[in-house]
Parts: sequence; structure tokens; C-alpha cells
Amino acid sequence: MTRIYLSAPHLGDNEEKYVREAFATNWVSTVGPNIEAFERAFSERVGGLPCVALSSGTAAIHLGLKLLGVGAGDDVLCSTLTFAASANPIVYQGARPVFVDSDRASWNVDPDLVAETLEARARAGKLPKALIVVHLYGQSADLDRLEAACERFDVPILEDAAEALGTHYRGEQVGQRAPLGVFSFNGNKIITTSGGGMLVTRDRAWAEKARYWATQARQPVAWYEHEDVGFNYRMSNVLAGIGRGQLEVLEERVAARRANAFRYRDAFADCPGIELMPQAPYGRHTNWLSVFLLDEAAFGASRDELLAALAAEEIEGRPVWKPLHAQPVFASAERVGGAVAEDLFARGICLPSSSNMTSREQERVIDVVRRVARTRTSSAGASERSWTASAT
Ligand SMILES: *Cc1c(COP(=O)(O)O)cnc(C)c1O
Repeated sequence: MTRIYLSAPHLGDNEEKYVREAFATNWVSTVGPNIEAFERAFSERVGGLPCVALSSGTAAIHLGLKLLGVGAGDDVLCSTLTFAASANPIVYQGARPVFVDSDRASWNVDPDLVAETLEARARAGKLPKALIVVHLYGQSADLDRLEAACERFDVPILEDAAEALGTHYRGEQVGQRAPLGVFSFNGNKIITTSGGGMLVTRDRAWAEKARYWATQARQPVAWYEHEDVGFNYRMSNVLAGIGRGQLEVLEERVAARRANAFRYRDAFADCPGIELMPQAPYGRHTNWLSVFLLDEAAFGASRDELLAALAAEEIEGRPVWKPLHAQPVFASAERVGGAVAEDLFARGICLPSSSNMTSREQERVIDVVRRVARTRTSSAGASERSWTASAT
């Protein structure tokens, strides 16, 4: 029985060619034609904005916060339902995260809560330095409403689009409306460079500054001269070669991920208590991960029981992100609400979502989910559902 992974890398035809070019020309470090070409190709996807290729999405968030002037003692609002990497750079900068709850419509940060928080903080003279908006699992947050709230108080937005390459908001790739956008090419993301990130900015001078900080903040003189503390955050030209090839097949990857999610949804249509996460009407949800919400009573099993049944069949599932306000490391952080994110964490499950998952593999996953649903329903004495016929 081969193991089915949650989200595996999926290479195309040209990645190796670009990597070979890096070897053949000896551009194997953090300068070279692949980096330039990758940044140029990426820029075309974000309205021609300047792009800086970095060693990780986390590094991109860090430099983004630095560009926004986030420093010691500042507060930064951040979605609570996300990966820790969204908020860790706030702490790197000596600032304090303030975690804001999700809405049910998109699972992303709730625009009404953001507006209320900003109003209250403006009255108290404690406006945050920035808002980090996460586009979770490939679904765009409601940027119009978030921007409207933030513009009133001049609070800049950083879009954490690490999970949202290929995601659209009102027909446009996310990550380009706010002053700063961040993408990740970690191994589990929709495309990968093995590890890497991209910082997108509306400001050419900011892109130059980020590039300077990312390469140890060296002054342009013969000796090593430093006026600022720098970082070693630049992407390697070898890995940028992988990125060039991956970007060429992005649309196919998006189509495959969406097809996975909708195939699951259709296969579970007659199972009560299991529902695909919302697909907000204002955008294109890539369904980077196929995420479902369980209603234990209706479904007949808990999220953890379903995870255990999948694991027994060598299938990797995962709970939804544990909210950051509930993480021990952020125990002392301020929070705004949190009950929605906690509920999504308690009942949400990520199913295998790789773009190279075969239909036979997906059927294995579907069979386990349906078996768990059916077994529990039957043993509870509820009405039998004829599922075997529709499963083929
Ligand atoms: C993956 C991820 C990051 C971090 O990206 P890395 O490239 O792994 O550093 C940040 N935010 C979110 C929401 C992510 O999913």
C-alpha cells in the first residue's frame, strides 16, 4: 500500500533544464539568470509589480514588516487561523501580535472585527502598525472590506499569500493590492522551489531595500562595509530554476487542486455532516488543500476518528491550523474573538490534495471517508444510505 501524502511536490518538464543551466554556467549561488527570469515571470502574474525572490515565505514576511517600519513595542494585527510563520516575524521585529478571529464566509480574518478593533484602538490611541491578512488554503480574504477598514486609519496591509498563488480576488491574483504581498514555495505549497519565497511590493525603492537587506546589507564598495544589520535571505539561482519551471505549469496545478476538492465534494454529497469549506463568490479558491468541516453528530464520527481511520490506510490527513491565539508560544498575546477559529480547528480536516494524486488514490481516500461515515451511521441505528452504487 503506497502512502498518500497531504500535499506532495509535483514537478513539470522544464525545472531540470533550468537547474542544469545553472550548473552548466556555474551560476549556483544567489545571483544569476534564473533569479532574474523567475522574478520577471512572477512579476507578470502580479500586475508587473517588482518582486524579490527570497529563501522562504517567512523571510519575505520578515522583510515586509521591516519595510513597514514595524519595530519594538508595536502591535500588529494578524489572522489567528493560520500557520505560525504568519506571525513569527512580528516577534522577530520585537513587536506584539494581536490575533483576530475568522469569519464563517471565507475562514479568513473577519473584516467587521478588524473595523471594530481599529475604531476602538484609534479611540484609545493604540493603532496597530500593520495588519497581516492571510489568504488561507487558497481562498482570498475579502480585501475590499479589509482595505476600507484599514484606509480609514492609515493602517497598511501585508498580504500573506503563502498558500494563495493562483488565488484570485475579483479576477486578480491576490498579493498585489496591498503595499506588500508574500508568497511561499515550500515543498507542500501549490508550486515549490524546494524552499523559497517571494516578496511583492508596489514600491520599486522598497524592492531595492529588501534586496539589500536580504544580501547582508553590503554597501557598494570594494571592502565589506555595513551601515545596517542585514540578513542572508536571498534565493539561490539553482532553486530559482525550479521556480521558473513550476510557474509554467501553475494553471494546471490550480486546475488539478480544484478538481480534487470538487471530486471529494461530489463523492460526499450523500453523506451528512461533511462539507467542503466555503468558496467565497468574489474570487477563485484554488483549494490548495481540500478542507472539509465535520458535524460529528450528523457524520457519525469525530474529526480525530476520521484522521485515525485514514492513518490506518496509510493516508495523511491533517486538522485545520490550530489558531495562533491558542498556541502556547503566543499565550500572552492579545486576541480579538477566537471562537470561530477554534470551532474550525476542532471540526476541520485537510484531505490529501496533491496535484499529482491519481484518481485511484483519491478513491482510496473517498472509500475510507464513506466507510467511516456509513459504519457510524449504521451502528447508531440511523437510516441506511445506499452509497456503494454512487461510489463508482
Ligand atoms: C507556508 C506558510 C508560510 C511560510 O512560508 P515558508 O516558505 O515555509 O517560510 C507563511 N504563511 C503561511 C500562511 C503559510 O502557509
